[in-house]
Amino acid sequence: MIYKDITHTIFSDIETSSHSDFNHEKVFYYEDAKVGLKSLIAVHDTTKGPGIGGCRYKAYRSYVEGLTDVLRLSKGMTEKNIAANIPFGGGKAIIFLENRKSKKMLESFANFLNLLDGMYISAQDIGISHEDTKFIRKFTPYIFDNVDPGPYTAKGIFYSIEAAIKFYYQSDLVGRKISIQGAGSVGLKLAYHLSNSGAIVYIQDIDTKKVQSITSKNIIPVKNALIQECDLFAPCAVGGILNDTSINELKCKIIAGGANNQLSNKTIDTKLYQLGINYIPDVLINSGGVIGLTQDYLNKNDLEIESDLVAIADRALEYMKIAKKESKTVLDAMGGLFFKG
Ligand code: NAD
Repeated sequence: MIYKDITHTIFSDIETSSHSDFNHEKVFYYEDAKVGLKSLIAVHDTTKGPGIGGCRYKAYRSYVEGLTDVLRLSKGMTEKNIAANIPFGGGKAIIFLENRKSKKMLESFANFLNLLDGMYISAQDIGISHEDTKFIRKFTPYIFDNVDPGPYTAKGIFYSIEAAIKFYYQSDLVGRKISIQGAGSVGLKLAYHLSNSGAIVYIQDIDTKKVQSITSKNIIPVKNALIQECDLFAPCAVGGILNDTSINELKCKIIAGGANNQLSNKTIDTKLYQLGINYIPDVLINSGGVIGLTQDYLNKNDLEIESDLVAIADRALEYMKIAKKESKTVLDAMGGLFFKG
């Protein structure tokens, strides 16, 4: 077993602290060859409390690609937890998908969490299910397993979409056209909230089975949600989908969705603005999940959770207003308010 604090050392041919995305408190590596586990945990900022953020089980082409992902995602978690107004910092874990996920592997990951002694608290993410977090919880207190965060994330995004439509179109959701990419835990719940409020919803998933079971007549499966003519496009699948090519195919006036890191790079934000598209940054509106996950830890009741989810949209609306007033993007309106780095 290898357990190493690699924050200021050369590991796998790269000095962690020389990485362009590094401005972290700690980065740890853990390997348990017996169970095929290789994992990284990045703790970005614990000023407000322990770093929290999910664990991603994913195939990476190289160690550096994994390191880059965990550094960026953990920083994003600090921002998201600020957006959610909860007393936690940001952190993230990745498990390199090189071997089949097994109970032994998850148990060993729990040991990794125990070694950090609460500096980082994990949760589910891509490749790690709610069932997995429940299993890991048997071996460590340092993972949230109380709820599936997806529906909470969907609710925060739903309120934010409602606020954005009201702000940019002076209208409610009835008859508004919303196109959703991804019919997973977040996208599908969001689709039902929107259709129940009278919106016409288009939805796409690369896994067509996920859209076949939809019964609402206001939710219409499409082949490509990104190019669908609509009032608002909600990316709820993968990151990096807004790039120099794809933004010219958009037929919407607003983008607001749950997927993390939707912009392939920061210049896309300005380009969207020049195209007349209002981009509401993911980090501003997809923090409902952490509100759901930390509710028991923070002893919050259902009413408090509901008001926290509404507050996500209220904060988003404040930044939409600043952006409009100062003729800038919402991301620029957020400026340095979120995070120093
Ligand atoms: P999920 O895995 O349940 O669903 C994602 C869905 O997207 C899957 O059904 C998948 O088949 C589909 N998909 C993948 N690539 C696609 C593509 N190119 N086009 C269309 N569909 C595609 O994940 P989720 O929990 O719903 O999360 C969705 C996104 O939101 C992810 O980017 C996630 O990181 C982000 N996010 C989720 C939460 C949460 O609470 N679950 C919180 C914050 C951010």
